[in-house]
Amino acid sequence: MTDIADAAVDAPTGPLPPLSVVGRLDRVRAALAALSEDPRPDALVITTAANVRWLTGFTGSAGVLVVAGDRALLATDGRYRTQAAEQLAASGVADDVELCIGGVAAQREALAAVASTAVAVGLEAGDVTWAAVRTWEEVLAPRPLVATQGVVEGLRVVKDPGEIVRMGRAAAIADAALAAVLPLLHDAAGGAVLTESAFAAALDHAMRIHGAEDRAFETIVASGENSAKPHARPGPRVIRAGDPVVVDFGATFDGYRSDMTRTFCIGGAPTGELAEVFAVVAEAQRAGVAVVAPAVVAGDVDRACRDRIAAAGWAERFEHGTGHGVGLDIHEAPAVGAGSTAILQPGTVVTVEPGVYLPAVGGVRIEDTLVVTDNGSRPLTRFPKDVPV
Ligand code: ZN
Ligand code: ZN
Repeated sequence: MTDIADAAVDAPTGPLPPLSVVGRLDRVRAALAALSEDPRPDALVITTAANVRWLTGFTGSAGVLVVAGDRALLATDGRYRTQAAEQLAASGVADDVELCIGGVAAQREALAAVASTAVAVGLEAGDVTWAAVRTWEEVLAPRPLVATQGVVEGLRVVKDPGEIVRMGRAAAIADAALAAVLPLLHDAAGGAVLTESAFAAALDHAMRIHGAEDRAFETIVASGENSAKPHARPGPRVIRAGDPVVVDFGATFDGYRSDMTRTFCIGGAPTGELAEVFAVVAEAQRAGVAVVAPAVVAGDVDRACRDRIAAAGWAERFEHGTGHGVGLDIHEAPAVGAGSTAILQPGTVVTVEPGVYLPAVGGVRIEDTLVVTDNGSRPLTRFPKDVPV
């Protein structure tokens, strides 16, 4: 697993190693075979876009994949005729995944034909609507439908080296973008007018300039009293000297995301209670990061952070989970929260992001995206945590 540990040491440019798409369909079949549902689904209709992408490389906005005994079929419409064929070929699964391009009726007929050998068909319960279930009942009759959860998502938890390289690139882009816009915060400390929205827009723009295909999620810039709201949206508030500013953002690179939070204090080191909040959150984050390693229970990472914050008397001021998995989605398995039972494995990518939020003082959150290695973890996000502005 050394290749996983080192995969993203982290050339920011250069050719990308391929993703290991071949073989993933058989892992889905094995996961279905291990389910305990009765009837047990031996085919799965995959409608979650990130799961379709992970299994086929197809990135279109409309596509349904069915995986059955020895067949798999991707159905999409004519807009994606060329793209779908190219992406299946590029992923090495053109021989494993049949392609149906056509209207709704043709797609349903093709999907039903592949599922026709199944005893029961699983649907991704977290993705299908009530109306969609009714439609699938008609399309796949008389086979019974079974609600499944996390079949593909569970397989996505451990990233392969190609995935980790892409996440490392996303994180490096975010690091570079933040460095590029940091002078704006210096200027704000000197009295220049800089709103939260303007800083967020500049950061988003910088990520694009540095090679992101998109931001990973809606950038959070929360200054002053807004910093005490963990998921404040950037607004017209002007960033001023003395403000804490929570900046929580990430880049998307070739589908894979990064997630990082830094909290700055504008115009010099924090003072008073705010200084204590900065110190406690930094210590809690270091404590959580130090626990991340293979075979560790995710809930123990949360506890390491939470214990430090509780010791400072702020247990009730840390009201969110410590972290989450990251990959094609910004929030994916495993959860890293109180009582999380997931076991960390080499190649799992998680965030550690404790925070303390005091309404009258301000909030501080510090977050890194980490890849679990053979003997610990390695940060993908590397922007320093103590940069004065
Ligand atoms: Zn974040
Ligand atoms: Zn996060």
